[in-house]
Amino acid sequence: MLNGRSVRNIAAWMTATSIRATGAIDRANENATETNCTLGLYFHNPSRDLFVRIVNWFRKHGYRFLSLNDLESCFNTATPLPKSSVWISFDDAWRRNLTEVIPVIQDWNLPVTVFVPTEEVRRGRFWFTHAARNADALPEPFRKNVSQLWHVPESTRQRVVAGLFESISPGDREVMCVAEITEIAKLPQVTIGSHSVNHALMPNCDEEQLRKEINDSKRDLEQWSGRPVRAFSYPNGDFDKRTARVLSEAGYSLGFTTQEHAITLADDRYYLPRFSIMDDGSLTENICHAFGLWSPVVNAVKATRPHREFLSKELNY
Ligand SMILES: [Zn+2]
Repeated sequence: MLNGRSVRNIAAWMTATSIRATGAIDRANENATETNCTLGLYFHNPSRDLFVRIVNWFRKHGYRFLSLNDLESCFNTATPLPKSSVWISFDDAWRRNLTEVIPVIQDWNLPVTVFVPTEEVRRGRFWFTHAARNADALPEPFRKNVSQLWHVPESTRQRVVAGLFESISPGDREVMCVAEITEIAKLPQVTIGSHSVNHALMPNCDEEQLRKEINDSKRDLEQWSGRPVRAFSYPNGDFDKRTARVLSEAGYSLGFTTQEHAITLADDRYYLPRFSIMDDGSLTENICHAFGLWSPVVNAVKATRPHREFLSKELNY
């Protein structure tokens, strides 16, 4: 029997195939070969097969893979970003990246940046997966609506989550441990960036919490990796107008959102855009994501009857 996610993926595959049939991918690819811009991609927890297929697509089309250092140098020296270029990042430091991704980047000498939330590394499990799996143990109103945890002040979220971790053991580790962060940081292909301390949403933090999330994660990651930490990715892509100042004061050089554009030198270096790659999406869907072709089409479909009722639900993610 098909579950909701399978139905979503079938609808997504049909949508992606239709986008490809219009020639939009070819045009977007051509545009990227003629423009000084970099496609910033972020993965979470992909299979080796999906990761290889996406990387291969860009290799076959002649793309160059930039490191964080390459990107930073372009901004520091006002050098136009190379045409046909991609910068790959991973959010969260999922432990499965060690077996699914790290061997591939070593084999192909592929630069990647891994954004790490330090408290989640200590606990072994993400607060949001632990809360979703154990919603019954949460106090109201979160028991009924666990997604509310993303919208409350950070102090409330921390209190509720700390109570949950005390009452229910986190179980199997799903985040890399400190020793594993230290190991991958030694690889020449890997750059470590910060993804905050608590995987906190920046706009939910007061000024003191914001500083702590940004400063303390940098300090710990520099100690674990033995390297300077120069980049930050906003958990859930959420930022506000304070974050650039706090990142700059803490000594960061670049900050990354989840706004869907290619990176150009005209962008603010503390609010650089990235395209999301779906862990369970098809190759074609993800190539649409990587060129920013997905959201405009899906949003248009959502606004159109008679597809609205079916697709607007299934294409949500
Ligand atoms: Zn994250």
